Amino acid sequence: MILTYKCPGCAGAMNFNESTGKMECPFCGRSETVETMQQLYLEEEAKAEAAAAAAAGQMETGHIETVNIDVGMGAVDSVAAATNIEHTDDRPHTEEESINLRVYTCSSCGGEILTDDVTAATFCSYCGNPTLIAEQLTGQKRPSRLIPFTIQKDRAIEAFRAWTHKGILTPSTFRSKTNLEKTVGIYVPFWLFDYGVLVNYQADGQIISHEIRGEYRLTHTDHYDVHRKIHAEYDMVPADASKEMDDHMMDCLEPFNYSAMKEFEMPYLSGFYAEKNSYTDEEMAPRVKTRVAQYGETHARGTIKGYANVITKGKDIRMSLKKTEYVLLPVWIINYEYKGEHYRFAMNGQTGKTVGVLPVSKAKAGIMFGSIMAVIWGLLTAFGGVF
Ligand SMILES: [Zn+2]
Ligand SMILES: [Zn+2]
Repeated sequence: MILTYKCPGCAGAMNFNESTGKMECPFCGRSETVETMQQLYLEEEAKAEAAAAAAAGQMETGHIETVNIDVGMGAVDSVAAATNIEHTDDRPHTEEESINLRVYTCSSCGGEILTDDVTAATFCSYCGNPTLIAEQLTGQKRPSRLIPFTIQKDRAIEAFRAWTHKGILTPSTFRSKTNLEKTVGIYVPFWLFDYGVLVNYQADGQIISHEIRGEYRLTHTDHYDVHRKIHAEYDMVPADASKEMDDHMMDCLEPFNYSAMKEFEMPYLSGFYAEKNSYTDEEMAPRVKTRVAQYGETHARGTIKGYANVITKGKDIRMSLKKTEYVLLPVWIINYEYKGEHYRFAMNGQTGKTVGVLPVSKAKAGIMFGSIMAVIWGLLTAFGGVF
């Protein structure tokens, strides 16, 4: 089921507003809280269900088709054929990715919305209305909390401009409007892990002193057996659970301020893109454990002071997982093209912290925009510039 939050006043599609933290109607200016909109939606849904029950299942609700597209030569042919876009470029390529596309029907205009199988919030490519894919956000897939966007799109664009002005990548094409139109706000799925860590750390602590005797300069090294046993709790260690986002890039956007977290409600996503997690917490755990082990070791080492050298002799790090939580965190993304390569600029949608250049897979850059044109753009440019 897909849904668009409609204005109670004029039935226009409402968006979450980053600066007010409320749902706003761009048509009549009406503003409502997230809770009110969710409540109205639930009432509407209950009414619709009652009506559907009355109609005794004459009609099917929703319409989902899953199309398996293997992004190879044949796949591009089939997409191109389906949408009447011709392409004659048949140079071989090496990129092989499997993308599961899904087709939904827009509840506002009836247009077809094509997304991949992790998209949870997108826009209709025909009427532009924000559209939520409810089944990606309910039941097991429901995030427990989220941090709403507080930074507006303009600020992300401004930061990107300032960054390109630094001279790293200056061609004017970069700052052109078309490039900046690819700015999208995305709720990225993250797992937060709470770990208890026990570190047993042994080191050789050295204290060095010098002495001059006649012509000789003597160096004394005193060795101390240093032992530290540390118990630490690391709470809310984040790991992005998105296949689409680069792990390192997401790490660079930290820290997020978790005290601003809100209970998850779907209206927050209206007007943004959102993805559901591609990985479970179990799949993410090894990556987080490596990180937590480093924290533990650094912490233990940091308590050893007053030595000229500290040489690690042994360490034993034990971790126990206490809790995981599935959350969505706000990220502004600008994808851009430079000399035929695709790059990505990202900004923490809560704090404004930015991270620049990373080449991204062309097919993935296309999917980010969730619309059929963008997907095709991604698939076809993978073949070397059809457009
Ligand atoms: Zn309105
Ligand atoms: Zn539409």
